[in-house]
Amino acid sequence: MVNSNMLRSHDPNVINPYLKDASNLSGGYADEVVFPENEDDVIQILDEACRTRTPVTIAGNGTGLVGARIPLGGIILSTEKLGGLKEIHLSSTGHNYAVTGPAITHKELQKAVSLKGLLYPPDPTEQNAFIGASVATNASGARTFKYGSTRNWIRRLKVILSTGDILDLRRGEFVANKKGHIALKGSRNTFELNLPQYPIPEGKHSCGYYVTPGMSAIDLFIGSEGTLGVFTEIEVELIHKPEGYFSGIVFFGREEDAWRFADFIKNESLKNRTSNINDTIDACVIEYFDCNSLKLLSSINQQIPKNAMSAIFFEQEIHIKTKKKTTDKWFQICRKFDVLLNKSWFCESSNENTE
Ligand SMILES: Cc1cc2nc3c(=O)[nH]c(=O)nc-3n(C[C@H](O)[C@H](O)[C@H](O)COP(=O)(O)OP(=O)(O)OC[C@H]3O[C@@H](n4cnc5c(N)ncnc54)[C@H](O)[C@@H]3O)c2cc1C
Repeated sequence: MVNSNMLRSHDPNVINPYLKDASNLSGGYADEVVFPENEDDVIQILDEACRTRTPVTIAGNGTGLVGARIPLGGIILSTEKLGGLKEIHLSSTGHNYAVTGPAITHKELQKAVSLKGLLYPPDPTEQNAFIGASVATNASGARTFKYGSTRNWIRRLKVILSTGDILDLRRGEFVANKKGHIALKGSRNTFELNLPQYPIPEGKHSCGYYVTPGMSAIDLFIGSEGTLGVFTEIEVELIHKPEGYFSGIVFFGREEDAWRFADFIKNESLKNRTSNINDTIDACVIEYFDCNSLKLLSSINQQIPKNAMSAIFFEQEIHIKTKKKTTDKWFQICRKFDVLLNKSWFCESSNENTE
């Protein structure tokens, strides 16, 4: 059924905010912006666009840094009215998850699951990005060292294709065979796909569609940057919120010490991660600041030591019972790698307080 009440506008004043994002790139233009409120509305727009061969650009919350949502003609499909959180599922077996529409920000999602004692582990820095867009960009963040990027935490994805088909993709279903062939069943059509065969780099990257032997179809769509369809429903995996965090910004008088420190922490963390002992080194964040970054930051923060040549920001989850052991280990390692200890900053936070 055609929804003639759907909000849509040709007014340049309404369109203009959608011609930019955090990249500050210019030159975008479009004829119309539309605000679908449900899947039927999205299908209606895509059917129309297909019939008239009009390009469609999907817009999230406009925090992208590469201009991906900036249109070059046609229709802007804003996802902002497609809804947010639907359900948080707490399970005694440990399989916790949330089901959400695309238009919830990371900040809102994290706050809602936190009230249930849960955490959505990928932690992209930009808290105002929509979850739909962070799936589209396979966003990662500071905690990616421990938890990987968004991809690892998406269990199910509902996608509307330009054909108007709805795909309901669950991880582990619609799996490619050895030759990279996948059969997909949409609400209107069945699709036979032959995935491109190219090696993809390890780690976080934005180099073409994700393809790997034996992959689930869901992974083709994660990171597809709005080119394959509109995500309307997402199921994300959640973990129990840690009891607290120990974090620090440690300064070094020599750059080499910071590199050796980072290398050591990285190897220790990877080694200890599987051991399931609570008081070992297991960083979730390791971020490096070189001397130029510190120089830049010194102009706004006078407490950065003048003799610091580099710094590392780390964060580790802690258990209240064993936190002393864990923090002692960190201080031992700091001494071993000549951290400027009395000038470095440390913070311990628990669900109750922060010191
Ligand atoms: C200060 C700052 C820090 C940042 N930190 C990080 C970071 O730590 N990690 C990181 O990865 N990125 C980071 N970014 C980049 C940006 O926040 C992410 O790319 C984010 O996912 C974009 O979300 P958005 O809602 O603003 O989407 P937009 O910028 O509006 O869109 C991004 C892309 O997603 C597509 N899209 C949006 N919604 C949908 C949907 N429902 N279905 C299909 N496609 C869709 C769009 O077409 C576009 O290609 C940062 C940006 C800023 C400004």
